[in-house]
Amino acid sequence: MSTSPAPARRPHWPHCRRGADPTTDPVGCCGIHVPGYTTCLAHLDDRGRNTYLASLTPGADIDHRGTPFTQNLLQSLLRSLRDPTTGKPHLGKAWFSRATFTGPAHFDGARFAGGALFHEATFTHDARFDSVTFSDHAEFGGGDLHGRRHVQRGDVREGRRVPRGEVRQ
Ligand SMILES: [Zn+2]
Repeated sequence: MSTSPAPARRPHWPHCRRGADPTTDPVGCCGIHVPGYTTCLAHLDDRGRNTYLASLTPGADIDHRGTPFTQNLLQSLLRSLRDPTTGKPHLGKAWFSRATFTGPAHFDGARFAGGALFHEATFTHDARFDSVTFSDHAEFGGGDLHGRRHVQRGDVREGRRVPRGEVRQ
């Protein structure tokens, strides 16, 4: 299993470039810039990351395309989006295209109020979407899946576009 999260293809968004090397890896980290910064969420320093996470409110739109997530980083992000009335993460539009999830990626109970975009996302371990609510469409497909993609009570399949309302809690 590869430990390098950086695909070689240059993304079309302003990206982090951490680890770029003119000969071996001209693209570097593909993570999109966190708003107001020039690195992705994974490579933001602790202060910047804490500031960003503290700025999030339940239902916020998030854009972390290309970002290499560890299990801890994903949990920190989802914790910052937790709806106090349900105790579950509440996301607006969520862009995770070409993101890499190292370790288990558990979105259990999350509510995606906007589109949930996971094109070409890579999951090194299990991806769990138990009891997830997609109020808009969810798009998966094209990435690497080393673990199981586990969706209960839903209907999300590889490469399939899920129309609004099809997946319910
Ligand atoms: Zn980065």
